[in-house]
Amino acid sequence: MLHKIIFLFISALCFLGNPAYAQDYSMVIKGGHVIDPKNNINEIMDVAIRDNKVVLVARNIDAKQAQVIDAKGLYVTPGLIDIHSHNFFGTEPDHYLGNGLDALPPDGFTFRTGVTTVVDAGGAGWKTFATFKEQTIKHSKTRVLSFLNIVGEGMRGGVYEQNLNDMDARMTAMVARQNKEIVGIKVAHYSGREWDPVDRAVEAGKSANVPVIVDFGGTIPMLSTQELFTKHLRPGDIFTHAFAELASRMPIVDGQGKVLPYVIEAQKRGIIFDVGHGGGSFRFSQAIPALKSGFFPNTISTDFHTGSMNAGMKDQLNTMSKFLNMGMNLQQVIQASTWNPAKVIQQEDLGHLSAGAGADVAIFSMRKGKFGFIDSSGYKMEGDQKLECELTIRDGVVVYDLNGLSRPAWDKK
Ligand SMILES: [Zn+2]
Repeated sequence: MLHKIIFLFISALCFLGNPAYAQDYSMVIKGGHVIDPKNNINEIMDVAIRDNKVVLVARNIDAKQAQVIDAKGLYVTPGLIDIHSHNFFGTEPDHYLGNGLDALPPDGFTFRTGVTTVVDAGGAGWKTFATFKEQTIKHSKTRVLSFLNIVGEGMRGGVYEQNLNDMDARMTAMVARQNKEIVGIKVAHYSGREWDPVDRAVEAGKSANVPVIVDFGGTIPMLSTQELFTKHLRPGDIFTHAFAELASRMPIVDGQGKVLPYVIEAQKRGIIFDVGHGGGSFRFSQAIPALKSGFFPNTISTDFHTGSMNAGMKDQLNTMSKFLNMGMNLQQVIQASTWNPAKVIQQEDLGHLSAGAGADVAIFSMRKGKFGFIDSSGYKMEGDQKLECELTIRDGVVVYDLNGLSRPAWDKK
């Protein structure tokens, strides 16, 4: 018996100490410029993946038998996280972004822009989440998470989103606690002057221990955003559509091009300013002066739906490229689309390339030239750099490959 134990012990030591085993990778991305803000990496490195996990980021990794992806001249980052998207697609007429025709299936649009995780922002409420899970979450290769709408019917549009009787903090929190895909609570589109929708969302957020994301405004005369930041939201709650300029919501930049002092104060206190570009919620007249004065968004997101994707917004990379051309550097833009959103939604296993992290990786080229970018009011800003997605890996598998980086040449079988 003792002999057997000693034998097993020695075998285990040999196994663990065997360098051949330790270097056995399934895929190595070689020679790319790795930007992994969580781990403070911003230089040429190799990334080794075994099955569905990142196992090593280092210089000159010996790929051995692994598949090699040559990423010279390209950027390698964690898979992008878009925390404001609309993916509860369906065929119900007049259901807007909750099982309706204006939301979009994620896989058709995410991987081609390096996005591996989306958070559907309020498409489903507690009454419709089961349908969303069955219809979208279970059938998508993209990781789909949810900000559950405080409205039980979700984002059905019209009068449904005005129904205070359908905003039940207790039921919302209960369904949020029961489903790990729910990472926060959404409140949106309410046009009354009551604070109840925001307060009930925060109550649900407290109860389920998740943040609240607020699409604020829609009320004339306008409600005070100062009051929103100081009296209603908590640090960690999210103010989306940060750079909107609407008749029904206070802008964050005043008429003189200055970011309002209480906005700067709110960000310092921990309110998250999210881009949520969308079809009507991003203006250069807000974003350019804000960035010039050093006020950057915490998170960059799309507000993706049929009304934004073919307008000025287009996709996550086009939105990130706008911020690059407005003065954020590449590291900051990547951080606002990977590690920052991961922290905001309390999913700290995502958004980085640490050893042991899930192998969600994006590879980009930086195109140089003359580009035009359009905002929600139809104005253009010119720029000279634009990110393009070359390849996306989700859970260790290549799910998008623009130029065949991962494929052998047809005549070299
Ligand atoms: Zn939205």
